[in-house]
Amino acid sequence: MTGSITNKSASSWLTVDLGALAANYNLFKDKAAPGCRAAAVIKADAYGLGAEKALAALENRGCPFYFVATPEEGSALRRLTQKPLAVLSGLYKGAESLYIHENLIPVLNSLEEIARWQKKAVQHQIPLRALVHFDTGMNRLGLGVDETAALHAEPGILKGLEILYMMSHFACADEKDHPMTVMQYARFMEATALFPAVKRSLANSAGAFCSPTYHFDLLRPGMALYGLNPTPWRDNPMKPVVTLRARILQVRAVKKGDTAGYGASYRFEKDGYAATVALGYADGFLRSLGNRGKLYYGDAACPIAGRVSMDAVIVDTGFLERQPVPGESMEVIGSHQDADSLAKDAGTIGYEILTSLGRRYYREYRA
Ligand SMILES: *Cc1c(COP(=O)(O)O)cnc(C)c1O
Repeated sequence: MTGSITNKSASSWLTVDLGALAANYNLFKDKAAPGCRAAAVIKADAYGLGAEKALAALENRGCPFYFVATPEEGSALRRLTQKPLAVLSGLYKGAESLYIHENLIPVLNSLEEIARWQKKAVQHQIPLRALVHFDTGMNRLGLGVDETAALHAEPGILKGLEILYMMSHFACADEKDHPMTVMQYARFMEATALFPAVKRSLANSAGAFCSPTYHFDLLRPGMALYGLNPTPWRDNPMKPVVTLRARILQVRAVKKGDTAGYGASYRFEKDGYAATVALGYADGFLRSLGNRGKLYYGDAACPIAGRVSMDAVIVDTGFLERQPVPGESMEVIGSHQDADSLAKDAGTIGYEILTSLGRRYYREYRA
């Protein structure tokens, strides 16, 4: 085992509570309006937490449908589940055979993609499954209004395809009562009314919490499964999934007027102490946390002193009654500060904190 990270030799420890993830999935299952099922979005390696492990936990809870972002992500997970795996980024040109071979379901984002998939269905003389994505205001992916009208006028375009769901995606569902959400719902109703026989999917994590009218036939939660708050205007209804701790490397006495780190951007106001912690931007501890974030030693919030470097960060511990000892650890994400609050200090969102989680952590998965 030479060279591999062990619990003892690690610089930092990431714990993923798969039981909490499964409980979070169950919350969506229970919450889903009658007749509506809950899928799981496991793109970007399950938001950085490990897609294989997340998938196994979700399989245990009978998750019927999965979404990934890319065909590579889908291929990597294909042998681990019999359930449908849909690719949100669309049908890549030149990758059609891969989708067929790996039994990946494209989310078709344009008439051109629909045509290419349909051609394959005709060629292979098999019905090919797909989702069709309507853009309802985000202007990111999906058929626009004109394409939707064209599709309706020419239903033969879909011949040979089995359309599992027609879907769209909210831009502002994480903001309470946002008018954009209501508008997107109206546009989605309008577009899907043209295809009354096809099932529908609209809500991401936040959308599912906005209103049961947004549930339709399939929920597509991602972030909330991993413990992020889908209702930022009130307390987080989800169970925490991620804990991150990092090793204290050194504790040193500092003098009034001393500075900390690159650029000497932090100055100690009195004689005190500084602790150096094994966590840097190479671990996804964002540089924007320099002089802004904090780490917890026990219940005490220790302010980050100076810039975050690649492999280390310095915190001011002068105010502590008992100074830490090298080899002890500090909480980065845990009961005192969750990924959402760390994100706030970094000027970003919890999604970016999770998907940036580094590769140097000792990772432990709890059942
Ligand atoms: C990422 C994504 C989701 C999941 O969104 P969360 O906010 O993480 O719940 C759902 N649908 C689409 C189209 C997505 O891209």
